[in-house]
Amino acid sequence: MSEAGTIFDKIISKEIPAEIVYEDDYVLGFKDINPQAPIHVLFIPKIRIATHNDIDVENLDYVGKIHLAVNNYAKQIGEDENGYRIVMNCNGNGQQTVFHIHMHFLAGRQLNWPPG
Ligand code: 5GP
Repeated sequence: MSEAGTIFDKIISKEIPAEIVYEDDYVLGFKDINPQAPIHVLFIPKIRIATHNDIDVENLDYVGKIHLAVNNYAKQIGEDENGYRIVMNCNGNGQQTVFHIHMHFLAGRQLNWPPG
């Protein structure tokens, strides 16, 4: 895994702006710049974990915190009962483009399955 940071480090440090909708000590949630649904938020850990392959026992707590953040946010915006999709793309076949793990939270319309 490359040691270089990504644009998400600069969003965490507030060096570049983002529409932040959720924040706690472990997790940041902000609107995706290129939304694929009426509600499209990225939930990221406040430490850099490059890909899903890099999740391990040392950083696993951050992943659990991301799931809790998603649950809290879905309830807060009233989409928990309607439903939503969470997605984490990994590497080339998964079409991951930013190498700092992020959970896409998609909601606000009927989502198609399979995704293609
Ligand atoms: P991936 O393809 O890696 O799963 O998703 C990366 C996501 O990050 C894309 O949906 C893309 O639109 C979003 N993204 C990339 N750069 C920025 C940025 O600077 N700000 C925001 N808010 N989203 C970004």
